[in-house]
Amino acid sequence: MYFTGHPCKRGHVACRYTANYQCVTCARLDRAKYRKKATQKQQRLLGEPIPQTVPKPFPAQQPPLGLMEAFRRYLIRKLS
Ligand SMILES: [Zn+2]
Repeated sequence: MYFTGHPCKRGHVACRYTANYQCVTCARLDRAKYRKKATQKQQRLLGEPIPQTVPKPFPAQQPPLGLMEAFRRYLIRKLS
């Protein structure tokens, strides 16, 4: 790996790999592109979309009971 300080063909100013003179940003983009293409190919072969891992929504956070009780008492005190 080395650094020229010159932008690559896509205009990234980043470190480059000595092996293929590709800048690390280009390499990352190419990897992402390749992965996407591979996934699409797999989908075509299988004839069905590959289920993406959907991040589960966080469960609704319940405030601790003690805090709720304290708040309830606070309200009662305030309103009475
Ligand atoms: Zn680049």
